[in-house]
Amino acid sequence: MNFKKSTFTSINNLFILSVFLMTSFHLSAQPTIKDVLNNSDAGRVDLSIPLRDEINSSVLPVTIINGVQKGPTFVVVAGIHGYEYPPILAVQRIMNKIDHNKLKGSLIFLPIANIPSFYGRSPFFNPLDKKNLNNVFPGKKDGTITEQIAYLITKEIISECDVFVDIHGGDANEDLLPFVCYYDRADSRNQTKLAAKLCKISGFENIVSYNYNITPSQPAIYAFKQATQDGKVALSIEAGKLGNVQNEAVDQIESAVFNMLYEMNMYQDEHKKNLQKVSTKTFNQQSYLKSTIQGILYSDLLSGDNVVQGEVVGSVTDVWGKKLQELTAPASGIILYKIGTPPVNEGETIFCIGYNKE
Ligand SMILES: [Zn+2]
Repeated sequence: MNFKKSTFTSINNLFILSVFLMTSFHLSAQPTIKDVLNNSDAGRVDLSIPLRDEINSSVLPVTIINGVQKGPTFVVVAGIHGYEYPPILAVQRIMNKIDHNKLKGSLIFLPIANIPSFYGRSPFFNPLDKKNLNNVFPGKKDGTITEQIAYLITKEIISECDVFVDIHGGDANEDLLPFVCYYDRADSRNQTKLAAKLCKISGFENIVSYNYNITPSQPAIYAFKQATQDGKVALSIEAGKLGNVQNEAVDQIESAVFNMLYEMNMYQDEHKKNLQKVSTKTFNQQSYLKSTIQGILYSDLLSGDNVVQGEVVGSVTDVWGKKLQELTAPASGIILYKIGTPPVNEGETIFCIGYNKE
């Protein structure tokens, strides 16, 4: 059963009574993600999972589409950061294009993982508890709303999936070069190989691989690092920037997800044969220039520009316009992302430079 609003209003009193009588009512009121996945019926189910902590309440919307044939379970997440709009709009399009008759396996979509951040127009943080959802994995069962979302994703979604794709973009202040990325986990070769392959055929030109260096008991912090730690094929897409909707980024994300589904033999449609091969560049090293002060940032450089180590890439002034610091590139390479608006705070990454070491 799905708690649509009209249903909810009409049985509101009953609902409140039931919560008093049976605190687990909200869990049994609708099928779990696992129930829907194991249900043999092909088609789509939209769920709205209620969340409540001591102060706030929210929901986690989930859409599950079961194909006509059995196959892998593929997860697509948008809106872990609710101010990153191209991923959210691309997932809207993808979900509504999928015909379950052409699908082998199951798709799980989180169309907007962080509802309070989206409707609160809040970059990075959930305004309810001031936490960054992409900084709290694996989450906590009885934690704040953000921690509960992370916990649900870890325990009920990552645990059920074969492939986990988390889609982000440049947040309100971030200028970003579109790229796909994965963790180069050496002790999980097959998963890493497939993640790299899915990046390669995604249609994105730039592929970033990150070092994977956490132990099994260390908190993964990030959503797709959690999926990597849990032994899944995990990757992330980054497209769009500066809190805007760029249609090109929406298109790019949409075709990347379809290309991955084609590669997995999970989806058949007329576009499959028109796949265009894109030559790719890989960046397996990252160098971060972090701010040591608060101030006003000046930089004429943009994401995608190449820089040479030691080159002046910008400056920071105080609020009276006095130059406090000259910024120089920490490495030679390409600007993957940078702060694209004037405010800068101590400890923030101003530039991320990507380069390749054989
Ligand atoms: Zn993000």
